[in-house]
Amino acid sequence: MIDYGLQGRVALVTGGGGGIGRASALAFARSGASVVVSDVDDGQGSETVHLIRSRGGNAIYSRCDVSDPAQVQGMVASAVDTFGRLDCAFNNAGINSIMLDEYDDEVWSRAISVNLTGVMMCMREAAAVMVKQGGGAIVNTASINGVVGNPGQPAYTAAKHGVVGLTRHGALRWASSGIRVNAVCPGVIDTPMTEQVAADPALRAMIEGMTPIGRMGRAEEVAEAVVWLCSDAASFVTGHPLLVDGGATAI
Ligand code: NAD
Repeated sequence: MIDYGLQGRVALVTGGGGGIGRASALAFARSGASVVVSDVDDGQGSETVHLIRSRGGNAIYSRCDVSDPAQVQGMVASAVDTFGRLDCAFNNAGINSIMLDEYDDEVWSRAISVNLTGVMMCMREAAAVMVKQGGGAIVNTASINGVVGNPGQPAYTAAKHGVVGLTRHGALRWASSGIRVNAVCPGVIDTPMTEQVAADPALRAMIEGMTPIGRMGRAEEVAEAVVWLCSDAASFVTGHPLLVDGGATAI
């Protein structure tokens, strides 16, 4: 594993109790950052903190539903109150309503409010701190559904395309403040979100067949991209939606 040199820096991870968020929180800590792990699932979020501390890292848990503006403000404030600054913000929390009808008004609203508005609010509040500080790096979680269509999930696809647009906007808006804003666009990654896919041999085979590398991705493989994008190694990279998809969209 590469050390991306984040000693003395502070990283905030939303959805840090789950697959990609947890792997990224652990990767930030491994590179030396103090980590604010945030989630709506207190048990899972606290477990990530425990895992970081048990490996000698520094982390706190801050509960936040990213669709609630007051909670987002409170989460960012808790990072600054505890660690004095915020250098990396990974706006990753998301939901997938694949088993529901996303044209249903309520399902649509919830999907947009968590997957798009939540990312916007987290980015807005993190950038406000970073502007005052004179710099920082933000990574938003989009998806391959942020760059290609999906016949089954209108809300998820619209939200993730929105995240890519928001990322480009943020990159332009805050470049002169020393803030870089990028996105990761994962393909199908083996996490709790996709456990139904992973458990169904036919579905899994279909996904693997659509992925040139021939398998689902691992959360750790997305985490590597996230921490690299937040590090000085990516100092000239901004406004970029980075595909981590095993070649799925290269076809
Ligand atoms: P996951 O379900 O394992 O983890 C998501 C985490 O977000 C969970 O811990 C959950 O409690 C938390 N969360 C849900 N709603 C929240 C809210 N309103 N506020 C705060 N936290 C909330 O999923 P994952 O696969 O790790 O997904 C992480 C991100 O990656 C999501 O944005 C997802 O859309 C995106 N993504 C995942 C895949 C995949 O195949 N797994 C592919 C592309 C994109």
